[in-house]
Amino acid sequence: MGDIPATPPPRLIQARRIALDAGLHHVFTGNVHDSEGGTTFCPNCHAALIVRDWYDIKRYDLSAEGRCPHCQTAIAGHFGPALGHNGKAFGPRRSPVRLSP
Ligand SMILES: [Zn+2]
Repeated sequence: MGDIPATPPPRLIQARRIALDAGLHHVFTGNVHDSEGGTTFCPNCHAALIVRDWYDIKRYDLSAEGRCPHCQTAIAGHFGPALGHNGKAFGPRRSPVRLSP
């Protein structure tokens, strides 16, 4: 697939807009810097709940039960009580890799 050019970000943003206008609630652009397209919005009050940019999570604002803290709407998905897994922060970071000869 290396011979196929990447989809231009404006096309991804346009496709997301079409899906949202068709009534889908959670549509994301991926692998591009598009903070709005990477954000989980509450389908009821439209509050920005999980704000992402690429692999960074800029805001995580869900109740421990996975609900919007503003209007208590349940958000589709499985969410932890806080950002991260096993106490580790989420996001880009360097990890050592050991290669065998
Ligand atoms: Zn809400």
